Amino acid sequence: MSRFWSSVVHNLSPYVPGEQPKIAGLVKLNTNENPYPPSPRALAAIAAAVDRLRLYPDPHATLLRETIAARYGVAPDEVFVGNGSDEVLAHTFQALLKHDAPLLFPDITYSFYPVYCGLYAVGYEEVPLDAAMRIALADYRRPCSAVLLANPNAPTGIALPRDAIEALVAERPDRLVVIDEAYVDFGAESAVPLVISHDNLLVVQTLSKSRALAGLRVGFAIGQRPLIEALERVKDSFNSYPLDCLAIAGATAALEDDAWFQETRQRIITSREALAHDLSTLGFEVLPSHANFVFARHPGHRGADLAARLRERGVLVRHFKKPRIEDFLRITVGTEDECGRLIALLRD
Ligand code: PMP
Repeated sequence: MSRFWSSVVHNLSPYVPGEQPKIAGLVKLNTNENPYPPSPRALAAIAAAVDRLRLYPDPHATLLRETIAARYGVAPDEVFVGNGSDEVLAHTFQALLKHDAPLLFPDITYSFYPVYCGLYAVGYEEVPLDAAMRIALADYRRPCSAVLLANPNAPTGIALPRDAIEALVAERPDRLVVIDEAYVDFGAESAVPLVISHDNLLVVQTLSKSRALAGLRVGFAIGQRPLIEALERVKDSFNSYPLDCLAIAGATAALEDDAWFQETRQRIITSREALAHDLSTLGFEVLPSHANFVFARHPGHRGADLAARLRERGVLVRHFKKPRIEDFLRITVGTEDECGRLIALLRD
């Protein structure tokens, strides 16, 4: 293949998601899903929506956008919805991130970001995390068109406080800041309240993690009207139905069931703290997590070996072959039993 075509193909390197095993009975702690089922009210709403499958869904997903708006204290036209936050991010890249100056994001973060840059021809620079694996915002003062941060960051789980994000957003009103809050509900501070006073901020969230609806594929963005309007225009050029009617019904009901949300999210936070403590007791270095996973390494074992040995014993965790983090394991917080099984195996 000529160098030209190989570079075209190289730029289209796909994102490689974590393993979704076909074998039953594995303990699946590798893709940050919620170990608890979705809200029973969401399941009932999805079952009831089956009667409407004959009809096209609402092209504006009005009910869902109104529900998100009410929950987050914004107007419905400040909410954009899509098939998972991956699709919301894809539209964000297409609509908002094509500029002359590069997009900045951390060198260790959600590995889909460089993939989108390749797909949508967005120039980017990766900004190294500091020695403690934190995002050092002072390093984002270099010339750029936009900044994209996951908060909490993935796979580290470390969160930035809201006032640090506010300072970043306020520093340069002509620069877009996108905050990917896929894991924010597990104890970090959301940047959504900043949207009211900053028109250069877009906050992206998902129902895949804290709402246990990864299979339904629902994500959303909150921002001031011009940003949302730009996303709507891109979306309409591809598909004028943002979500199917089961997704609209299930997501709306899940967002209305605050009791289920609070209970399951709190359980995960409690299990995360116990898991981090147990791993430390076994000699692991565990980064301080505000997400539904922990990122940990053991000084005496290589990450790849540990992941492979756990896999042989039926426990899946995520391992990245990337310099600086290749000895870390990213472990999703499972049920108490699942975490117990993992710790017992590691102790052996
Ligand atoms: N952002 C981050 C940081 C993630 O880890 C994920 C999950 N892989 C996503 C976005 C996408 O989540 P979803 O498309 O399921 O909403």
